[in-house]
Amino acid sequence: AGETIITDVAIIGAGPTGLFAAFECGMLKLSSILIDALADIGGQCTALYPEKPIYDIPALPAVEGARLIENLAEQIEPFNIPRLLGRRVETLEGHRGGFTLGTGKGDIIHARAVIIAAGAGAFGPNRPPLEGLEAYEATGGVQYYVRRRADFADKTLVIAGGGDSALDWALSLREVARKIYLVHRRDKFRAAPESLRQLEEAVAKGEIEKITPYQLKSLKGEEGRLSGVELATLDGESRVLDADHLLAFFGLATDLGPVAQWGMDQIRSTIPVTPSSCETSLPGVFAIGDVATYPGKLKLILQGFSEAAMAVHAIYPIVNPEQALHFEYSTSKGVPDTK
Ligand code: FAD
Repeated sequence: AGETIITDVAIIGAGPTGLFAAFECGMLKLSSILIDALADIGGQCTALYPEKPIYDIPALPAVEGARLIENLAEQIEPFNIPRLLGRRVETLEGHRGGFTLGTGKGDIIHARAVIIAAGAGAFGPNRPPLEGLEAYEATGGVQYYVRRRADFADKTLVIAGGGDSALDWALSLREVARKIYLVHRRDKFRAAPESLRQLEEAVAKGEIEKITPYQLKSLKGEEGRLSGVELATLDGESRVLDADHLLAFFGLATDLGPVAQWGMDQIRSTIPVTPSSCETSLPGVFAIGDVATYPGKLKLILQGFSEAAMAVHAIYPIVNPEQALHFEYSTSKGVPDTK
């Protein structure tokens, strides 16, 4: 049986924007809870690119995904915000006085307002349709994320995909891997011009072998231990590459999952909000970060941070209808000292 929790604000999603929303709640003395389907906090930063530097967080010239999340966790530590991890919010019902949320593990959360910071939903990679794929996924023979570059030290890698992720990882892993094949079904890659330039340089130096236009056809190996990847052209010409790992970067499947059933307006996998408050078409339910959309929206962490601040300030009068909120700078009020 799950837990029953009463709080001012239920935050669905503990990615960077959900974490910062929890900070803003703490600063305005609203209680909150963070709920995430994944076992760890950090959303995409933790799950998809913990070791990649992010360059466009204001005042942090370069910060790795995992480090950004550690910093956010440190920033909310004084508020002791409870977390329900490893469970997805399945239901959201509105009633007089607030909302009731239910998780897949039977937790019940009563909240006065809700912030949906669900990113691309409980996201997952697009997986190639290859026979026996699950067995190779289970052993790490086939992977969709790089958690630790060191895992690929001295390995032969087939990296598949034609976008930024495939290119960025090929360029980054060439420093540790023994051999890198970069496979794409077209001759042209669609990536940032600077990455394309670096790729050409790496190919010329023999650091990366480009194999185009080829598609993945089958996996070779025994009992989940990968030994090679078979490729084919559209004309059916095939070849087999030796491989310890296949890293496939075919994008993320964006599926809002249960969030799509809760009755607010949607545009594909995003939720339109009022830009000044981030309120959705359901009063009392707010959306921030990648899941929120409005004219001019940029799917950037820095914009999600600002949306978190706007949403929490808009929630304050819902929780405290009698009390006017006096806008204050953090420098004048400080954060609670728990040390
Ligand atoms: P997410 O990080 O997607 O987190 C959402 C969380 O919600 C997830 O943990 C998910 O499990 C959870 N969730 C969803 N539905 C439910 C549910 N029903 N119940 C419980 N939990 C749920 N941005 C930048 O600004 N700069 C960059 O340089 C940059 N580089 C990037 C590089 C890569 C390779 C990738 C993939 C993204 C990059 N981004 C970058 C984008 C950035 O990571 C996202 O904008 C950011 O993670 C969005 O944060 P979020 O909190 O809105 O959502």
